[in-house]
This record gives sequence, C-alpha cells and structure tokens, in this order.
Amino acid sequence: MNNTVADAELDTVAALIRGAERILFITGAGISADSGLPTYRGVGGLYDDRLTAEGLSIEEALSGHTLATRPEITWRYIGEIEANCRNAGPNAAHHAIARLEREKPGVWVLTQNIDGLHRAAGSQNLIEIHGSVHKLLCTACAYERAVSDYAGLTLPPHCPECDHLLRPDVVLFGEMLPQAALAQLSTVMDAGPELVVTIGTTSVFPYIAGPVWWASQHGVPTVEINPGQSEVSRLVSHRLSIGAGQAMSALWSRLHGTH
Ligand SMILES: [Zn+2]
Repeated sequence: MNNTVADAELDTVAALIRGAERILFITGAGISADSGLPTYRGVGGLYDDRLTAEGLSIEEALSGHTLATRPEITWRYIGEIEANCRNAGPNAAHHAIARLEREKPGVWVLTQNIDGLHRAAGSQNLIEIHGSVHKLLCTACAYERAVSDYAGLTLPPHCPECDHLLRPDVVLFGEMLPQAALAQLSTVMDAGPELVVTIGTTSVFPYIAGPVWWASQHGVPTVEINPGQSEVSRLVSHRLSIGAGQAMSALWSRLHGTH
C-alpha cells in the first residue's frame, strides 16, 4: 500500500469523523481479529464447511432446532466459541470507538460480534444484533445471568430456579433477530447518522449492509475499514484497506493532535 495515499485517505476520514456528531459504526469479526479472535462467518465460520463430529453442519449444530432437541451438541460448539473469546481483550479499535462515544454521545455501534469486546471497552450505545455469549437465559422461566466466561459451567447448564435448560443469549441459525436490538437500530437510523463507518465485516447480512445502502442513497458519507473486499466495497465513499486496529489508532491520533 502506498503510504502517501493512505495518509491522505486517513486525513480525509479523520475530518469526516471530526465533523459528524451522529456516527454509526458497524462492526464484524474483522475488528476482533486484532484481539486474536478468528474471523468467523456468523457464529459458525470457525468451522468453515467441515461437518461436526456428530455429522451435522455447523449451521445445524448451532441452530435453534438442535438446541431444542440435542442441546449437548449446540452447547459443545458454543463452548468452543466462548473458549476462543476467553482471555481476549478489546484492542485499539474497540477502545477508540468507546472513547469517541464519550466525546460524542451520538456515536453508536451495531455489531455482529458475540464476543462482548465492545462492551468490555466501554461502549454503551451498543446494538449486539447477534447477542452475546456472556449472558445466559433460561429456556423456560425468566432467570438470566451475566457470566464472564464458561469456566466452571457444566455443559449443558441448567437453570438454578427451575432446572430447565439454560441457553446463551445469542442468535442461533434459524432464529429471529432480537426485537429490542432491531427497534434500537430503527431509532438510530431514524435519527439519521451523518457518517456510517463499517469495520471488518463482509456485510453479507442485509441488516448489516442496510445502513450503508441507506447512507449511499441519502448522500451520507460512508467509510469501509477492511483489508479485503466486501459486499459494500463498491458502495462506500471512502475505503481504508488496512486492519481495524491500525486504522482506528491512526484516526484517533489525527483527531487528538498526536499525529
Ligand atoms: Zn428456569
């Protein structure tokens, strides 16, 4: 990559961030890659197209149907995903977004990630559209509990109140997106973001690409931070073909005069 061009592009994007109050960041697995997490597709891409030991596709293993009928299988693979997240901490990109929110209360994050790293960095205007592995819910009663990790849990875990199955608060394959998260996203879109920044996502899901489409149709600037191409690459007005941590650190230093 030509560094002169990259500097000019970074200056341009930093100016867009400086000039906007309502900024929507859309993030996917790529933002967590700098924390050492694998870039998986949805919840299942950890396993590519391999079948599980049970002969199921990973989409079947991580589906609402399998959770209901063979919960030990779903829990085994959710447990593997959680084990990958364990000990991973937020990186420079997560921190920069959380700090920006403290300066600009109109900053929001829409994330596909279930790793909880935006929350760990301090983001509060956060829409976790696929849920989080760090919350468990009872499948029968109103019991719920936050967990920092699954160490010490016997899988599949059972409810201490009613002994029915507990589940992670994540959207499994074949399940609906959470209504509360969708409603929150609508509110953010109704307010009209002045800048949309997509980071580390291939944007294959329509609800992830949607805000970029909306912005491009309304003349709102859009930025993609992604070393590779994605579904929205041809739509965005600015592209930074570098990793999330490097890009957000460079932008942060421009915004705060340390560059
Ligand atoms: Zn219960």
